[in-house]
Amino acid sequence: MYFPYVVAGAGLAGLTVAERIAAQKNERVLVVEKRSHIGGNVYDSYNEDGILIHNYGPHIFHTNDREVYEYLGRFTKWNDFWHRVLTQVDGNLIPMPITLETINRLYHMSMTPEEMQHFIAARAIPMKEIKTSRDVALSRVGEEIYQKFFENYTKKQWGLDPAEIDTSVISRIPLRFSRDTRYFTDKYQGMPREGYTKLCEKMVQNRNISILLNTDFAEIRKEIRFGTLIYTGPADEYFGCRHGRLAYRSIDFVMETYNQESFQEAPVVNYPNDYDYTRITEFKKLTGQQHRKTTIMKEFPKAEGEPYYPFPTPDCRAQYELYRKDMETEKNVYFLGRLAEYRYYNMDAVVRRALDLCRDELGCR
Ligand code: FAD
Ligand code: UDP
Repeated sequence: MYFPYVVAGAGLAGLTVAERIAAQKNERVLVVEKRSHIGGNVYDSYNEDGILIHNYGPHIFHTNDREVYEYLGRFTKWNDFWHRVLTQVDGNLIPMPITLETINRLYHMSMTPEEMQHFIAARAIPMKEIKTSRDVALSRVGEEIYQKFFENYTKKQWGLDPAEIDTSVISRIPLRFSRDTRYFTDKYQGMPREGYTKLCEKMVQNRNISILLNTDFAEIRKEIRFGTLIYTGPADEYFGCRHGRLAYRSIDFVMETYNQESFQEAPVVNYPNDYDYTRITEFKKLTGQQHRKTTIMKEFPKAEGEPYYPFPTPDCRAQYELYRKDMETEKNVYFLGRLAEYRYYNMDAVVRRALDLCRDELGCR
């Protein structure tokens, strides 16, 4: 069978491209998805107790990109939601990222923002060159705060010392000299009112879109004919892992349901120094759902399993470069998204990339 466009992978990257091609070019698109559902890692569902859970970890939409916000807003209404995270340090639950509140609570002080500036400046370690995530943290907050908040969390999350990890990872976490304890400060933040899966379902309502679930693209690659392929799966698998397997970090998501209305004080609590898991999410506190029970998720990072995070080391980046060069020789194939581009993209960045690809390469307006 012939399709002018085939999209491998039904995550946000693939669905955005499929939606644009179907709507703007009025062409037929086949979306091939390995899993039994669309949405990729933003997929959410109701568990057996009727609580809405994020099956692949907590997802909070946040962006400064108005076009992306408005684009996704065509498929959902948003619940106002300002994400907050607490972290357990020295036996206390205190706000994360590091803000004036965090430092005052940690050291039992009541500094002003100016006093905090001096306090941190006296601890931060000046560096000529910031090469790793460890350098990022030490140069911002110094040894003690680095050890309490970042070192062990990062070791758990990645199985590596922060000194081995690219600067971009810990740079995701801001340092604020104010009382603003929100996890993100982007202009647009929210949770899709009916959940991410409903949002994704609305994206693919166009009759030009056909979806083949439970199908690995590699297995049907020779059987389907197409004009253009948009591939959003892992880069190495597309090329039969000819340059070796790329490392992706995986996670075991472990759910527990309690016969009580509330489990913890915040939607997410981080555990940098205790336990084998990195954080606990309580879903009702993300979604605003009312229910007499509550479901939580613990995240246990691991090396093997479903690929979730590209590995943030120079060696992995160099290995990925070999695949990227191979991509340049593929005709009428575009590589897009967190897995294919091997980048630690947030949702908004993936949608941005997809919209740009549609406009610049695929001729959508
Ligand atoms: P994916 O969602 O991974 O989709 C790729 C799809 O391709 C998958 O469905 C996969 O099954 C399919 N596929 C792979 N190989 C094949 C194949 N051979 N054939 C067919 N199908 C295939 N972002 C935020 O903005 N905010 C957050 O709070 C946030 N939290 C996160 C928490 C966790 C634990 C994780 C892992 C990610 C989080 N993200 C968050 C990032 C967000 O999930 C991604 O930016 C986004 O889902 C990437 O979309 P994608 O389409 O590139 O990839
Ligand atoms: N991090 C940390 N301590 C924390 C939270 C995050 O050291 O309490 C580091 C860790 O290396 C993590 C990175 O910052 O991988 C990015 O954190 P973020 O919350 O953005 O992770 P994600 O939600 O993408 O898993």
